[in-house]
Amino acid sequence: MKKERGLLVVLSSPSGGGKTTVIKKILEEGHPDYVYSISMTTRPIRPGEVDGKDYLFVTDEEFKKHIQAGDLTEYEKVHGWYYGTPKIKINEWLAQNKVVFLDIDVHGALRIKRQFGERAFLIFLKPPDEQALVDRLLNRSTETKEQIRKRLARVPEEMKMIDKFDAVIINDKLDDAVQQVKKLVQNKMSKN
Ligand code: ADP
Ligand code: 5GP
Repeated sequence: MKKERGLLVVLSSPSGGGKTTVIKKILEEGHPDYVYSISMTTRPIRPGEVDGKDYLFVTDEEFKKHIQAGDLTEYEKVHGWYYGTPKIKINEWLAQNKVVFLDIDVHGALRIKRQFGERAFLIFLKPPDEQALVDRLLNRSTETKEQIRKRLARVPEEMKMIDKFDAVIINDKLDDAVQQVKKLVQNKMSKN
């Protein structure tokens, strides 16, 4: 039987931890086997985001239809919006032995681990300290103060899950964090 080599690389962190930035940098390098799982969400689109590239932006009603139809590998309500991982691409890419990067919340990450076991590799991206997180969220300027407050309120719940992850990387200097994620993935793949 042909050995399966595909891997789901899940990056989780508190909001502002740097998941999007780190994954984008890795994918920009153009590795032919590295792909990104585009989540579906009911959150409003941010300036600069592209529908179908950053997320599949849908209405509440559409999202619920996808839940009913069993189209999502996992989904979660985060900061008041629905977010979910479409099943179809995940299965297709694993069958093609791709390395699939997922930017999802801690609960979604653990669900992926439960479903995919050794095929999933969970990385927690830890901010150097809480102040850096606040500064980065404020700097990103994509949320209102109230939305930022909601995101920060979830940090303790997210940090509690850290022990359940396969690896923890501190995102202090961005380039170092990117190199460390790449190295972890290469190591994992070489053992596959
Ligand atoms: P997430 O996707 O986890 O919510 P982002 O990737 O959007 O986080 O990062 C939040 C903000 O912090 C962005 O403006 C990003 O450019 C910035 N950022 C990410 N990593 C670093 C870092 N190591 N040093 C400084 N700023 C960073
Ligand atoms: P944001 O609104 O900042 O893009 O994302 C908010 C949170 O939702 C982040 O923690 C992000 O990782 C998470 N998220 C994005 N897509 C998914 C998904 O498909 N499933 C789950 N469980 N969380 C997701």
